Amino acid sequence: MAFKVKFWGVRGSIACPSPRHIGFGGNTSCVEVSAGGERIIFDAGTGIRNLGHWMLKKGAKRATLMLSHTHWDHINGFPFFTPAFMPDNEFKIMAGHVQEEGGVRKVLSGQMAQPFFPVPLEAMRGAMHFEDFSAGDTFKLGENVTVRTAPLNHPNGATGYRIEHRGKAMCYITDTEHVPGAPDQNILGLIEGADLVIYDSTYTEEEFPEKVGWGHSTWEEGVRLCQAANVRMLAIFHHDPTHEDGFMEELELTARRKWPGAIVARENMRINLL
Ligand SMILES: [Zn+2]
Ligand SMILES: [Zn+2]
Repeated sequence: MAFKVKFWGVRGSIACPSPRHIGFGGNTSCVEVSAGGERIIFDAGTGIRNLGHWMLKKGAKRATLMLSHTHWDHINGFPFFTPAFMPDNEFKIMAGHVQEEGGVRKVLSGQMAQPFFPVPLEAMRGAMHFEDFSAGDTFKLGENVTVRTAPLNHPNGATGYRIEHRGKAMCYITDTEHVPGAPDQNILGLIEGADLVIYDSTYTEEEFPEKVGWGHSTWEEGVRLCQAANVRMLAIFHHDPTHEDGFMEELELTARRKWPGAIVARENMRINLL
């Protein structure tokens, strides 16, 4: 069975729909993974709106939404995820960082409570199953997909994921801040030998010193981690909204010169792992 990845939103922080962001895309984090008959959605940033429209068109009725964390740019699209409002559909929504906050259902419902949003979570007529776990847990999805997780270094916490299917592996690692010179052992352990690692590359190494404590990393650290962990391909992801297309094109050239395994994620880009 196939193992495919599609990027529906690649931006960090806030959506940036402008003519200068068309090349790479302005929607915030949302990545769809199809593996072993399972549909996994990483994060519900504004990119999930288009994924929802596509699912309706295709008649796709079921998915597991795994949240890295619940900062706005990762959940803003959730109230606009149309398939969740359809009674025939079924979704499992998982998070590994909010058990102590009362759980993922409570957090997502807070986003949709008045006066923030006119339509409450209860209006989602699909079968919605909310499940909390602790970052670090491992679980199965269906018969033949394994999900491993690890805690990331981010304000209020975040979870990194590794999806394994038929000997291939992809990882979704955002948002996270690195400590220069001290590679994150949780991440190294999670990404070891993976075929694809999608990594929080919000800043460049040049910008990073001014952003210490903001919870993000650089593409250069992504390359170092991937090289150290024998990863085949790095997808530079969670682009800063100030990084317009021209800047991103330059960045892509520089990154690929440094390590040919690096690519820059663009909205609508697909990668087939099987
Ligand atoms: Zn983010
Ligand atoms: Zn965040």
